Amino acid sequence: MTGIDDLPVRDELRGKSPYGAPQLDVPVRLNTNENPYPLPEPLVERIAERVREAARNLNRYPDRDAVELRTELAKYLTDTGMYAVGVENVWAANGSNEVIQQLLQTFGGPGRTAIGFEPSYSMHGLIARGTSTGWISGPRNDDFTIDLAAAEQAIAEHRPDVVFITTPNNPTGNAVPPETVIALYEAAQASKPSMVVVDEAYIEFSHGDSLLPLLEGRPNLVVSRTMSKAFGAAGLRLGYLAAHPAVVDAVQLVRLPYHLSAVTQATALAALEHTETLLKYVERLKAERDRLVGELRAIGYEVTESDANFVQFGRFDGSAGSHEAWQKILDRGVLVRDNGVPGWLRVSAGTPEENDAFLDAVRELKKEQSA
Ligand SMILES: *Cc1c(COP(=O)(O)O)cnc(C)c1O
Repeated sequence: MTGIDDLPVRDELRGKSPYGAPQLDVPVRLNTNENPYPLPEPLVERIAERVREAARNLNRYPDRDAVELRTELAKYLTDTGMYAVGVENVWAANGSNEVIQQLLQTFGGPGRTAIGFEPSYSMHGLIARGTSTGWISGPRNDDFTIDLAAAEQAIAEHRPDVVFITTPNNPTGNAVPPETVIALYEAAQASKPSMVVVDEAYIEFSHGDSLLPLLEGRPNLVVSRTMSKAFGAAGLRLGYLAAHPAVVDAVQLVRLPYHLSAVTQATALAALEHTETLLKYVERLKAERDRLVGELRAIGYEVTESDANFVQFGRFDGSAGSHEAWQKILDRGVLVRDNGVPGWLRVSAGTPEENDAFLDAVRELKKEQSA
């Protein structure tokens, strides 16, 4: 039978596996940082209405530049980010993964490199591979903060074309201080102009503020965002970026024409009408996240400081220990994530009931392991 390796696939894809968390059918799924709250019913009705209108024009291509949607996204960023951006600063695509892909198609590619500080969001490296951009794994401290001196040195040595900074970081949960981002931006410009992409997928859950104001005077900085987490709309597939207008012009060189369907644009616009309600769920999740941190510590686990809607906890005995713990928690009906960080697991903040089920499971696990 013909397999992938019998096909003339590109060399860099040979022997590789596709990205994906296990999708298991268990009662409590806290493994993909989804928002546990379904969209409120009035918003579901509004989506139906706007999609019905859009359906009347589906014989036509959608607005290629998604102007109305980008205008509303710019308003949202301006209202919440303490920095004014306009439609010319904002670009949107099918999930922030597509935004990142477009950025790497524009600023990376064959003969170029990108760096990330790992452990971090593994899709940055995978999208680099998919766009034939060389990937450099930069260092972190043992406590998962970015080791600034080592990071600056890695940038000076490799002179990457694109630098990824995820804040709050996934899977560790900690935010990166603005001074560190500024220092890395400067390091990245030292020998030649490089793009610095700040992935703020979880910023709405942070105790601190968005780094949007850092865009002032930094034309090579990009802040990427998503409606997958805070807006509770992972199924929608809508990500966006804010940057200098020239960056928005540049990504248009690689975007497919009409990449954002009329249905997607209508749905995202409906969701943005309900921002206030959706951000109330974010406040609940932040409180639950803080509760998880407190209770995990009380049980006796180590926890990484979290500014996201998930918590990294441990420590288990290396990779084997975290995998064993993952399985034992799963045996109790709760699915968490083993991101391959030796000794650590990640749990997404769910509803209070889901979090209670998780805490019961890890409490039992602790008893078992210290018995
Ligand atoms: C979840 C996540 C995203 C979101 O990707 P979408 O394609 O918008 O769903 C982006 N970056 C990080 C770090 C994430 O964890």
